[in-house]
Amino acid sequence: KTQKDQAAPRISVIGTGYLGATHAAAMAELGFDVIGVDTDPYKVAELTEGRAPFFEPGLPELIRSNVAAGRLRFTTDLAEAVAASDVHFICVGTPQQSGSFAANLSYVEAATRGIAAALTHDALIVGKSTVPVGTGARLRAIVAEAAPAGVDAELVWNPEFLREGKAVDDTLRPDRLVFGGTSERSEALLRRVYATPIADGTPVLIADLPTAELVKVSANAFLATKISFINAIAEVCDAAGADVALLADALGHDTRIGRQFLNAGLGFGGGCLPKDIRALMHRSGELGAHAAVGLLQQVDEINMGRRQRVIDLALQALGGSVLNRRIGVLGAAFKPHTDDVRDSPALNVAAALHLRGAQVVVYDPQARGTAQRLFPTLGYAESKEEALAGADLTVVLTEWDEFTGADPAALRELASGGTVIDARNCLDATAWNAAGWTVLGMGRVPAS
Ligand code: NAD
Repeated sequence: KTQKDQAAPRISVIGTGYLGATHAAAMAELGFDVIGVDTDPYKVAELTEGRAPFFEPGLPELIRSNVAAGRLRFTTDLAEAVAASDVHFICVGTPQQSGSFAANLSYVEAATRGIAAALTHDALIVGKSTVPVGTGARLRAIVAEAAPAGVDAELVWNPEFLREGKAVDDTLRPDRLVFGGTSERSEALLRRVYATPIADGTPVLIADLPTAELVKVSANAFLATKISFINAIAEVCDAAGADVALLADALGHDTRIGRQFLNAGLGFGGGCLPKDIRALMHRSGELGAHAAVGLLQQVDEINMGRRQRVIDLALQALGGSVLNRRIGVLGAAFKPHTDDVRDSPALNVAAALHLRGAQVVVYDPQARGTAQRLFPTLGYAESKEEALAGADLTVVLTEWDEFTGADPAALRELASGGTVIDARNCLDATAWNAAGWTVLGMGRVPAS
């Protein structure tokens, strides 16, 4: 082996959003020299100052310490980053296309072409973004076309499974690593990059390119299906006077089923699950795999129906109309421990109530800024107390600890109306009841 082969691979991370910023910081934490690249100069400036441009527990500390240690830097200059690295991780966005369920692949294509064209020496390009099956093969053609002659560039897929809110831990200690389409050489290189988690026992699965691409979207499709399953059962519970939370606890004891992702309520949202199941639906249709299309259509439909269910409960609670009624909304983020409001069911419901003429006042512990940018016309409060003051109706839309742990008696004194819609089935209904609230849950027997 030459000296160069034995030196630690230098890493570039293209795209420094939720995934890329975390991945870049985690790779630096593992001891590598890392350059993060983004086209957004604001993000690059924030990261360079050692700040995370979004809320993610533990990430600011990781960025700050690794920037200070000189292992981690950020730039908008892709060519400079590519010239200074050996392994390039693609972490750019793959959002839903407007007017279609398909994924917008323009960012991954641009990033791949940009990397390939800027190569000055042999390199490994590793896709981490979530992509429709078949994308890697197309990107390989782009690399072959754009890479300079004499440079050996390999493209493989290493899908990412991190969860927002737990992103740092998920990246440093993943459940599994999937390497797709690797050669002996690139597999060895990836094993060096991930040597620490592998030594800690993380299993590595070697797959072909399409399987690796499909693992990620299948994982998300399964989780989405589990949530929509319990939400469909919640509807039966509502009609039959049964309690879906008790039912889920009882189901969850069966280890074949498990308790996770069985919380009935407002359904899933965020920057991943909704667009990933839609992209899979679209791609399955293109491939003629109609069973997956039908299944995912139902999952999506059940999920979107939950938002309407909460709006119906609000209408019912306020006697048929929300017009000019004050509604205190607790939660805007798509789930707790994040400021992400992409396709957030919470913000979607708040906006729908606003469109029906309600005076909506939203409070979220972290997502006020992101929510306000997306829906500037809603009212925003600095605290849950301010949101609930004088409210005719209270709606809990994100299960932050600050809400589940709140003192219902103190809040009851602030609100005008005594009804709370617990859209996440996250409140202690007995305690809220005892404090004078009427709690309307999702698929739950009303506490009395
Ligand atoms: P994001 O929108 O937060 O970040 C994407 C970043 O890429 C943005 O900062 C954007 O400016 C940048 N970008 C776009 N084009 C670029 C280019 N040509 N060069 C450099 N930078 C560019 O998105 P995200 O949530 O980080 O998701 C990124 C990918 O990771 C998606 O495919 C997503 O499905 C996948 N993923 C996300 C998560 C998650 O929890 N957020 C988890 C697993 C996988």
